[in-house]
Amino acid sequence: MEQLVIKKLLEERLAPDSVCTDELMSRHTTFRIGGPASVFVTPKSEKDLVTAIEICRSQGAPYFILGNGSNLLVSDQGYDGVVVHIGSDLRDISVEGTEITAKTGAMLSQVAHAALAHGLTGMEFAAGIPGSLGGACMMNAGAYGGEMSQILVGVRALDDKGQIVELAADQLELGYRHSIMMEKQYVVLGARIHLEKGDPEKIQAQMDDLKEKRIAKQPLEYPSAGSTFKRPEGAFAGKLIMDAGLRGFRIGDAMVSEKHCGFVVNAGKATAEDVCGVISHVQQVVMEKYGKELEPEIRFLGFDR
Ligand SMILES: Cc1cc2nc3c(=O)[nH]c(=O)nc-3n(C[C@H](O)[C@H](O)[C@H](O)COP(=O)(O)OP(=O)(O)OC[C@H]3O[C@@H](n4cnc5c(N)ncnc54)[C@H](O)[C@@H]3O)c2cc1C
Repeated sequence: MEQLVIKKLLEERLAPDSVCTDELMSRHTTFRIGGPASVFVTPKSEKDLVTAIEICRSQGAPYFILGNGSNLLVSDQGYDGVVVHIGSDLRDISVEGTEITAKTGAMLSQVAHAALAHGLTGMEFAAGIPGSLGGACMMNAGAYGGEMSQILVGVRALDDKGQIVELAADQLELGYRHSIMMEKQYVVLGARIHLEKGDPEKIQAQMDDLKEKRIAKQPLEYPSAGSTFKRPEGAFAGKLIMDAGLRGFRIGDAMVSEKHCGFVVNAGKATAEDVCGVISHVQQVVMEKYGKELEPEIRFLGFDR
């Protein structure tokens, strides 16, 4: 990619200080892993976000939309393309009646707390998921029996033709960690959520309860990208991995968590290569022992896969 050409085009059209080069992705992923992105853009408005994508598309430059980087493994070599980072300038949240409208960069925890503040129930499941609203719509994030598909009214998105479109939830093909945004080059700009009136004390209690469950069960003391694998048909990834004797299996500083075998964690200075080594080994052993294919839930950037 013509790094300097793209950088110049972006700088000419976007607000000052939105663009930099060779930004280490380890600073922007919850795994704390990843080499440099050739160009790194943090749009300061929705208009700039759309412009940045238009420029990448018209120049044929590879680009990647980054939310909070909480479901992402970036290669040690980094990414020879433009990372468009949806940051804190795109976090507005508004509540009207039982509906919440928020921009794509709003953190799920912020949206869930806005719901709590307005006595709205239905989003408690999302309060502990460390992602952005856009990333959560894209992944149809879910936990403890709840998922985005249950509360989404629809999204505003930039489609593959550069048009801003309103898509109703039933047009998003939301399934288990799947949405139409994955198939098409749609970028989520914002979302509308419908909740129910509830008792703030009960909502708070439910959030506290789920938080305690996460602290007790998940290796939150280590950097990770959450559950590494999707749940295979009729089984749980973590249990299969534990039963296969892989608890604590380690390559370099990448390790199958001892607390929850469904998580590969960065126990120090893990590289992406270490993590990929652990993932491949786990997949191979589980396939040999149980004939189950473990498909990664995490997304990969900068790899040939
Ligand atoms: C400790 C921990 C616990 C977790 N627990 C859960 C859990 O309980 N349930 C769960 O579902 N997930 C969980 N996750 C994973 C992760 O938080 C979710 O998948 C989250 O929705 C990802 O959001 P993000 O903004 O971080 O996305 P990123 O990691 O930045 O990106 C993920 C994907 O979404 C795309 N994307 C991001 N923003 C947009 C956008 N605006 N438009 C289009 N595409 C976009 C990216 O290109 C990428 O392909 C956990 C992660 C961690 C680290």
